[in-house]
Amino acid sequence: MMFTKLVLASNNPGKLREFAALFAPYHIEVLPQSAFDVPEAEEPHVTFVENALAKARHTSRLTGLPAMADDSGLCVEALGGAPGVYSARYAGEPKSDERNNDKLLADLADETDRRAHYCCVLVLVRHPDDPQPVIAEGEWHGEILRERRGAGGFGYDPLFFVPSLNCSSAELAPEVKNAISHRYLAFRRLAERLEQLRV
Ligand code: IMP
Repeated sequence: MMFTKLVLASNNPGKLREFAALFAPYHIEVLPQSAFDVPEAEEPHVTFVENALAKARHTSRLTGLPAMADDSGLCVEALGGAPGVYSARYAGEPKSDERNNDKLLADLADETDRRAHYCCVLVLVRHPDDPQPVIAEGEWHGEILRERRGAGGFGYDPLFFVPSLNCSSAELAPEVKNAISHRYLAFRRLAERLEQLRV
């Protein structure tokens, strides 16, 4: 690949670790935007891809380097894709996984269609005016449980049942989750696309 550094448009240390490990085999160093004092970008849009693009472009503009952003969330079929881009703040401010999960259970109390998927969109721009951002999407399909199961993961994991493994995503070991999740799938697709483009 033709660049050796990229800035991750996120302040989440867990994501930085995960993406740094994923990019290491490609000899790309992933730097945190905090190293450049980049202020958090707005996420004003109603789609994952628009939010991720806005964040990547903002970070690339302020650092002068290639930048990658992710945006992710839970989409519930019976709720028309909600909470979607509002996943982190579904039950309002301040953000709370606990209250988000309570709200999801209440919203689906009378619902028999429990299908849902996590979605992750990754957007990489080589420079702020890149006319062809590299975009990749990953989905992880499951069902919303009627009560919490498991203590691992974060966010909606205690309510996200994975039929193929017969457990919730909060019951999976982190290395198992990280090898099948929406984020991982999106990363695999991004890496394939970068190889095709030889960027
Ligand atoms: P963000 O893309 O990091 O802003 O994540 C948005 C929100 O989506 C998180 O706060 C969680 O509520 C939800 N979410 C995204 N990925 C996961 C996951 O792997 N497990 C559980 N919740 C997730």
